[in-house]
Amino acid sequence: MQLEYTPYILPFVFSLCIMVGLALYALPKANTAARLFALVMASLGIWTFCYLMELSSVTLEGKIFWLKIKYLGSATAPLLWLVFSLVMSNQQHLLKTALTPLMVLSVLTTWGVVFTHGLHNWMWTFIETKPGFPETQSGHGFYFWIYAATCYLGILSSVVVYFNFYRTTSPFFKKQALWLLLGGFIPLAGRMTEDVFGMDLIPKIDEVIFFFLFSGVFFALALFRYGALKLVPIAHHLVVKNINAAIVVLDLMGRIVDLNPYAQKLVGPEAQDSIGKTPREILGERLQIQSLDSIPEEVTLKQGDQDACFSVQYSPIREQRGQVAGHVLVLFDITARKQAEMQLAHIARTDALTQVTNRRHFFELAEPEFQKARGLGGQLGVVMLDVDYFKKINDTYGHQIGDEVLRHVAKVCKNNLRQTDLFARYGGEEFICLVQGEDASDTQHIAEKLRQALEETPILLPDQHISITASLGVAVQGAAKSLDELIGKADEALYTSKKEGRNRVTVSGALGAGEVYT
Ligand code: GH3
Ligand code: MG
Ligand code: MG
Repeated sequence: MQLEYTPYILPFVFSLCIMVGLALYALPKANTAARLFALVMASLGIWTFCYLMELSSVTLEGKIFWLKIKYLGSATAPLLWLVFSLVMSNQQHLLKTALTPLMVLSVLTTWGVVFTHGLHNWMWTFIETKPGFPETQSGHGFYFWIYAATCYLGILSSVVVYFNFYRTTSPFFKKQALWLLLGGFIPLAGRMTEDVFGMDLIPKIDEVIFFFLFSGVFFALALFRYGALKLVPIAHHLVVKNINAAIVVLDLMGRIVDLNPYAQKLVGPEAQDSIGKTPREILGERLQIQSLDSIPEEVTLKQGDQDACFSVQYSPIREQRGQVAGHVLVLFDITARKQAEMQLAHIARTDALTQVTNRRHFFELAEPEFQKARGLGGQLGVVMLDVDYFKKINDTYGHQIGDEVLRHVAKVCKNNLRQTDLFARYGGEEFICLVQGEDASDTQHIAEKLRQALEETPILLPDQHISITASLGVAVQGAAKSLDELIGKADEALYTSKKEGRNRVTVSGALGAGEVYT
């Protein structure tokens, strides 16, 4: 086969090198889109290579040989082009339809027609060389138009696919979608300049092949420039769409750029025109975010008459070179967890039987109060209370009624105390009360009030009334060094009350231990 150098091949040699380079770059990537891209580049490479061989061939036979081989690439490229656009725009499902067999059939038919051309002349009516023209000159047979229409259709469809992708994709992928759209549009524009507008941009050769090079570069940019994140826009997109968390993308000004469906549901009808606004603008008082510098770890969002609690994760989105391009807020609904935590905390602090503060929590609260009051002159009073002859109540009426009595005692005491008084079950049938800012005499009056209330309020059971009394001991902080010491004094005073005949209040300390108030 005779070959001869012609300067017409130079742009195609250049183009071929870049296509092969891009294909080799993309091939090792473990990614469907990248591999498909390599395949597209390979088919374009075959097309380009055969074309430059056609240009370089001296004899007509040589030119015809390469003209035919060229169809191995030129018949497949436009259809792979379409497949690539479907994969890149997350429309792979369309490949499971009749489209794939139709495309395969079209390629095989074109090859069949081209390689059996001599039998029927369906592709070309004549092929000849013309002096001064490196390309063969030919008349188009009827099948040529079918082939051309298929090419157009493949490329045109891919442009529509890219356009839709550009239109509907999240702002996150817009740039990538734009590169794809431009890349897809270039060969169409190239074909149209010649076929529709009759412009011959590079005389005597088929420059359309050359346009594919630009597309390849644009596609490579779309695929590789944005790094791994955007290499798989499809999977990424689906994750963001389906995740059970609200994802809100903010720009550098803190304005919303994107909301995933979960976030849209959370925001409600305002989500429709939320793009460009700040989360505070659309959620108002529902979401408390003061500034971008102080994002709370948890936020409460009003949803109707209920509050939903969300954990907030806030992270910058960095571009490849490290500059911050925006921020992403991820909100997880932790309402159920919060409720469970609150319930647990309540259980840990509360006496199960009487629902008043338990002993452990009493000390947690009382200790700081003791220290605080110490600095202020020791104005803290303690009242210890023990139900009289409680064992007898248990023995006479049973344990369940005994429990009922304990609930009754707690209720009566609570009703006769102030909100600020710390009342707790100390253990068994003993209760304790911490009163703030009171001297011995005031604390004594509080204790007396409780004693009287218990004495005057019998427990009303369906078939009987049970009257109870309690003995109380009072102590005030004064110079007591510790809470234990203070409680010990109150306990001593209580013991005195028992000794003195029960149903009475004894004050320790200021009034002197053993002084009884009846
Ligand atoms: P005193 O007047 O000297 O205080 O006599 P008392 O019978 O009240 O005192 P004692 O300490 O002898 O008995 C307390 C009883 O309280 C014994 C215990 O079985 C009962 N008790 C402790 N906790 C509970 C409880 O949660 N429920 C019931 N029903 N009884 C309890
Ligand atoms: Mg008792
Ligand atoms: Mg007791």
